[in-house]
Amino acid sequence: MATRKRTYWLVGIVVVASVVVWLFMFRPLRMDSRVSGSRTDEPLAQKVTEQDKVEKTDEQWRAQLTEDQYYILREAGTELRGTGAFLDHHEDGVYTCAGCGSPLFDSRDKFESGSGWPSYTQPAEGHTVGERDDYALFFVRTEVYCRTCDGHLGHVFDDGPNPTGLRYCINSAAMGFKPRDENQ
Ligand SMILES: [Zn+2]
Repeated sequence: MATRKRTYWLVGIVVVASVVVWLFMFRPLRMDSRVSGSRTDEPLAQKVTEQDKVEKTDEQWRAQLTEDQYYILREAGTELRGTGAFLDHHEDGVYTCAGCGSPLFDSRDKFESGSGWPSYTQPAEGHTVGERDDYALFFVRTEVYCRTCDGHLGHVFDDGPNPTGLRYCINSAAMGFKPRDENQ
């Protein structure tokens, strides 16, 4: 009896320890833990209005997008590490959505993360980038998507540099690029 009781205790401790480790290692990013106080989905919802939204049928997306773009944006795919067109891209301007043209990230927020994907500390002005929990793998990640056309862009992690401490890890194929207008 004593042995069986001890076994139950051991199993219980292992289960509890696993859950605790899982929660700490893979906890989803919480909006309220963000450095930037204004970055919640509440005010964002007011920026991209229903009229702004781009909705297309699967057929229309297939016709408009390249195979790579479709795989990333519409099927939430991930391009191979180190292969993206914007990985070593250093021009001054704005990275846009390859699906709808919305401005997504500013080149001033781009940094060398060493991850193999273009990385940014924050989205560009305009609140066109949304975030939501992604349960595709066995742990929760925070998906980054285009609020205008609902296209998948990448993920955001909390191991980035200053000023936000965030790393927006984005697929090149999900984006286009617009050089900055010199009059701005
Ligand atoms: Zn878009």
